[in-house]
Amino acid sequence: MIVLGVESSCDETGLALYDTQRGLLAHALHSQIAMHREYGGVVPELASRDHVRRTLPLLNEVMQKATIQKQDIDAIAYTQGPGLAGALLVGASFACGLGMALNKPVLGVHHLEGHLLSPLLASQPPEFPFIALLVSGGHTQLMRVDGIGAYQLLGETLDDAAGEAFDKSAKLLGLPYPGGPEISRLAEFGNPGDFTFPRPMLHSKDLNFSFSGLKTAVLTVIKNQTANICEQNKADIARGFVDALVDVLVAKCLTAMKESGLKRLVIAGGVGANRQLRAALNAVAAKRRFQVYYPELEFCTDNGAMIAFAGAMRLKKNPAAATRDYGFNVRPRWPLHELSAA
Ligand code: ATP
Ligand code: MG
Ligand code: FE
Repeated sequence: MIVLGVESSCDETGLALYDTQRGLLAHALHSQIAMHREYGGVVPELASRDHVRRTLPLLNEVMQKATIQKQDIDAIAYTQGPGLAGALLVGASFACGLGMALNKPVLGVHHLEGHLLSPLLASQPPEFPFIALLVSGGHTQLMRVDGIGAYQLLGETLDDAAGEAFDKSAKLLGLPYPGGPEISRLAEFGNPGDFTFPRPMLHSKDLNFSFSGLKTAVLTVIKNQTANICEQNKADIARGFVDALVDVLVAKCLTAMKESGLKRLVIAGGVGANRQLRAALNAVAAKRRFQVYYPELEFCTDNGAMIAFAGAMRLKKNPAAATRDYGFNVRPRWPLHELSAA
């Protein structure tokens, strides 16, 4: 079965073809980062318009790469939510229009399920069950995953997401959007311990997170600098910030591993690309004898491959999950726990 995946929830247009027999056939991505950078964040209307421009050329690109015909597609999966309403509508209308033209069934996919399952696209995928840390631009959640659609929320952020904390703190340091990778790179040159930031909820005895205070702490430090902040200063602040955030993420993962007794930890979402987080997790995993799994770097942030894959997994379990009813609705807000089991 060949599934076309269409992702357009935010500022990446991603298309991909996944074959349940042969694996990922092709994927193509256009990131709008450069376009939004001058505004310091994603401008929803610009995002929607750009998805309109990019979708069809990207479809042609994946068709060519995979050397298949449109009629070879068995189903079309699109991101139904959560995300920006206008951006989601572009992908949904594209998928349903194409489905209608080709007479192929379509299904809406939950964007976070896409992220959550993206590590299964790697060459050595984890087996179920596992603990998953989903750390993206809009979400920070710990979950127990027993199979496709069997997700139990163990804890989540009470305010900002980890990626959001990265982006907001980076902005305070004058770094361009999106700040996550930028602040991470800068932190490599910083001295550990020159700035110590709070570890929010480290001892809260649950698996929840809170990151908005961390951003405020960065702001306070910057305001308290009497002289102009030099580059080394910035790097030291970046280092203090990254160390604090990584400490909390790692500690909560450890607690979840201990409490569940499971031996596999899976990281998903954009912040999963962070090298300091990966290094720290690899170190504790070796010590505590559990395995950590990551998505391929290119599949940490938004992409079409994870949507094609999540759609294919849903359809494998239940072929009736896709429909030839081409009326669609998107769900800009859609908590993962409201997603029905496969
Ligand atoms: P959501 O999936 O929750 O709707 P999103 O799609 O915007 O949000 P992703 O695409 O998964 O989120 O990830 C983007 C986020 O990941 C941004 O906040 C970005 O700064 C962060 N990020 C990407 N690479 C890194 C990195 N190397 N270090 C830290 N953060 C990073
Ligand atoms: Mg993005
Ligand atoms: Fe995402």
